[in-house]
Amino acid sequence: MEFKTNSKAETMELGKKIGALLKSGDILILEGDLGAGKTTFTQGIAQGMGINDYVKSPTFTYVMEYRGKIPLYHFDLYRLKDPEELYDLGFEDFLYQGVLVMEWGSMVEKMLAEDGFDYIKISLLKTGENTRIIHIEDTPKGQGLYKELSL
Ligand code: ADP
Ligand code: MG
Repeated sequence: MEFKTNSKAETMELGKKIGALLKSGDILILEGDLGAGKTTFTQGIAQGMGINDYVKSPTFTYVMEYRGKIPLYHFDLYRLKDPEELYDLGFEDFLYQGVLVMEWGSMVEKMLAEDGFDYIKISLLKTGENTRIIHIEDTPKGQGLYKELSL
């Protein structure tokens, strides 16, 4: 399932719709080059989850926690060297408490699949200065999300 956005605001709006549908234990992998809009999209997700804090890239911390009715754990895995390090970051504890959004999450995708975790994967592609293609990949949870979005 693919969406096209023509501005930062539109990407945030889509993130907001999706954020409103996320539940505790959901893992969302975000993929896309630098500047594709992963952090912008996460800002929308936070809004949709009723979180008013300003979300920025957690590049120097790996993970940032934002408190809402359900907590949002915002990861940036760009500098992760080994997928297994995700467990050292407290991944499983976070999973029982809230929603996990992972920028550069492709790094751990194979491991998560092998370890039996289902996830949503969303790829962002820059197609012009202000245009993006946002694609929800065909994982089981991704399909569930897509159905809910189209209601
Ligand atoms: P990433 O986290 O993927 O590196 P960011 O969200 O930090 O990307 O940055 C995206 C940049 O692209 C921002 O400066 C934003 O203003 C700009 N931008 C322009 N058009 C869009 C769009 N349609 N969607 C998202 N961001 C956009
Ligand atoms: Mg970012």
